[in-house]
Amino acid sequence: MSALANSNRATTVEVITIGDELLLGFTIDTNAAHLARALASIGVHIARRTTVGDNAAAIARAVAEALERSQGVITTGGLGPTSDDLTKPAIASLFGREMILDEAHLAWMEERWRRRFNRPLPTTNRAQAMLPAGAVKLDNHHGSAPGIWLEDERGRWVAMLPGVPREMRGMLADTLLPRVQARVAASTVVRSLTIRTTGVAESLLAERIERTESETGSLNVVLAYLPSISGVDLRLTVRDVPPQAADQALTEAAARLRRTVGEWIYGEGDDDLAAIVLDLCRSRGLTIGVAESCTGGLLGARLTAISGSSDVVLGGVIAYHNDVKGSRLGVDERALREHGAVSEEVVRQMARGAREATGARVGLSITGIAGPTGGTPEKPVGTVWIGTDIDGEVEARLLRLWGDRYEIRERAAQWTLEFLRSRLTEVAALPERQA
Ligand code: ATP
Ligand code: MG
Repeated sequence: MSALANSNRATTVEVITIGDELLLGFTIDTNAAHLARALASIGVHIARRTTVGDNAAAIARAVAEALERSQGVITTGGLGPTSDDLTKPAIASLFGREMILDEAHLAWMEERWRRRFNRPLPTTNRAQAMLPAGAVKLDNHHGSAPGIWLEDERGRWVAMLPGVPREMRGMLADTLLPRVQARVAASTVVRSLTIRTTGVAESLLAERIERTESETGSLNVVLAYLPSISGVDLRLTVRDVPPQAADQALTEAAARLRRTVGEWIYGEGDDDLAAIVLDLCRSRGLTIGVAESCTGGLLGARLTAISGSSDVVLGGVIAYHNDVKGSRLGVDERALREHGAVSEEVVRQMARGAREATGARVGLSITGIAGPTGGTPEKPVGTVWIGTDIDGEVEARLLRLWGDRYEIRERAAQWTLEFLRSRLTEVAALPERQA
């Protein structure tokens, strides 16, 4: 019974990331996260992650312990030519293997140095051509240290990858994933789909979703709420099912989410709201001008970060001082005096001014109090007015944003993009009006 359950279970491996800088917190361990995602896509679970310093005994102990629990171990880091690179000899001695010079690799490195740097190979780099006896070399198309695959009599294996993230990812995709996949022959996968929402609180989303999900049942799809400055991502994950069933379950779950909370969904995966808004404008022949006070150009930066934005974005005005709101955007002095710079009246005039200053059909405007200073009882920090003017039809919205200065400014830009997106998609949903 338990043997059967075991054979049905997805294969597990452990990951050990190596480096003092990881333990000290100077480098964020992105390798472990990348490995987990890549392995999940071929049905392999990471059962445990360990991080150790640049210390041969610690490396050997961590690998030995991991091999007690699982069939395979992947390490990253410590493969380079410097004295703190101890991974290979530490694991070689754990496996009781000698280090042997790989002549072919040495010749390749010598040739590479001559070609690239017009210099002989430094003696320190010779260490990179030393491999444990019986090791399989994993080619590195992105650097000079080879990865190493070492296996014992019982078929337990250790794959050693470089620490540099770009080299690690390249080697994983080119050589290690195919090798692990052939080895585990997993018939099931772990797959995820991220649905992106913005302009809605996590609790409100959850309430709506949980009410409907409980009626429909959930097909073993796990839903995670991932809030960030750009909104709340809804990540759907299925585990341990065949690839086709996984895709089908995710598609169905995503369709249910679209029915339940569709008005807040702007994209999938790593879609950027700015790119979505640009596409919407482009397909309608709309151009954009911006007028920004408290965001100081963030909205313009978000839009122009997208390649190809120049056919939609015409330009904008950073109207931080009231004088500039007046002189460049035509905001009248009376409005500023009577209502203050952070007011509906002013944000409406700014949106119109953005359109007029740039000649665009859409004007976007932001004025608010990003803090930490400048708040008042009636306009506390986080009070932000945003405006959209589409062909002269102006709408304004009051936001009560939270967080520090950085977060309030980022959120203000994101919510303004969402404001325009929702207006454009509402217009699209209406029946065609006669011209
Ligand atoms: P090199 O040949 O450059 O010495 P290496 O295989 O010895 O490569 P390390 O020396 O451990 O790898 O790390 C090289 C670089 O990669 C370091 O700058 C380190 O910050 C980064 N790095 C190492 N491990 C990780 C990790 N787990 N996540 C993200 N970056 C990492
Ligand atoms: Mg190194």
